[in-house]
Amino acid sequence: MPVAPAHSLEALIQALRRLPGVGAKSAARMAYHLLQRDRDGALQLSQALVQAVDHMRHCERCHTFTEAPICAICQNPQRDATRLCVVETPADQAAMERTGAFAGLYFVLMGRISPLDGIGPHDLGLKKLLDRASDGVVQEVILATNFTAEGEMTAHVMAQALKARGLRATRLARGVPVGSELEYVDLGTIAHALAERR
Ligand SMILES: [Zn+2]
Repeated sequence: MPVAPAHSLEALIQALRRLPGVGAKSAARMAYHLLQRDRDGALQLSQALVQAVDHMRHCERCHTFTEAPICAICQNPQRDATRLCVVETPADQAAMERTGAFAGLYFVLMGRISPLDGIGPHDLGLKKLLDRASDGVVQEVILATNFTAEGEMTAHVMAQALKARGLRATRLARGVPVGSELEYVDLGTIAHALAERR
């Protein structure tokens, strides 16, 4: 039975499916919700998207998202320029910032090495990182990529390249979470915490 095509609805659903983790059903649900219950929100979303795509760029020094050529952290003279922390994403950088425990600068990879997705070290700006870390001011590069298989591989490759240039690379320690009880911590974490005790 022929059905009248709903082109703009279909286009909206297809566009929403581009979001990570959104399948056909969720995309349709979001589209119906926006059109039926929140048209103001839909317009706000579309304007915010255009605004962000037009204005957000990568910081020339650390690669994170910023509206200025150099981001606020890189511009801050109070930060300790001798320490450079390498993270995978701006979200990881924000998590580090929330700890208040790190006063140095960052380099944001905007991803991780992932052979399955065809992402190698050079797609993550390895050369830019090496140049950045060789500025004569940086004394230590702290590799704070995630403790996943891909994050570990990324840290390993970066550490090798940094050390080959005579630069000091360190890795975040793995340990028992604050506030946890040993009997509930997984064995791998306990083993690492024991090996990296101090
Ligand atoms: Zn920056």
